[in-house]
Amino acid sequence: MGKLFVISGSSGVGKGTLLKSFLSKHPDFKLSVSCTTRKPRQGEIHGINYFFLTQDEFDNLVKNNEFLEWAEFSGNCYGTQKAYVERKLAEGKNLILELDTVGALNVKKIIPETVLIFILPPSFEELESRLRGRHTETEDAIQRRLASTKFEIENSKNFDFKVVNDDIERALKELESIMC
Ligand code: 5GP
Repeated sequence: MGKLFVISGSSGVGKGTLLKSFLSKHPDFKLSVSCTTRKPRQGEIHGINYFFLTQDEFDNLVKNNEFLEWAEFSGNCYGTQKAYVERKLAEGKNLILELDTVGALNVKKIIPETVLIFILPPSFEELESRLRGRHTETEDAIQRRLASTKFEIENSKNFDFKVVNDDIERALKELESIMC
């Protein structure tokens, strides 16, 4: 059986880049693909970045109890399918879920051996400038994401580990010492 990890962190904290570096060095780890009702951003591919679903399709999965956890975040629904996680762990893959903090804490309740890791920005100002630099969100969406940051950091009190993404190489080494 593989091990289960959840990585959370505010939008724009650099989780994606950090995870990409980690995954390229560690082929025995796999990033889970979640379902979402959010519209794809440019370059995102169905089945690779997310399973992009309509609200009806998502609601059906909820109704049929097919999610390990699901949450509403910034006006969209996100969820992790139970069968997907069970299959990957049974294949012996170490699986990483990239979830918001509510999802992370819910997974820990259901599967207590899950390791929860929270990625912190060096500062709030740095986070805001990274979010704006992505040019992927409207001003309204950026404001909503910044507002949820405070809530996310508060929730991270109950995480197993916290890693500050001040320098990608340093943060990567810390992540490796936790996960490998
Ligand atoms: P984004 O829209 O930037 O891709 O993701 C927004 C937030 O949703 C991020 O905090 C991300 O970690 C979280 N997220 C992605 N997939 C899932 C999921 O399956 N469940 C939960 N609870 N959150 C998710």
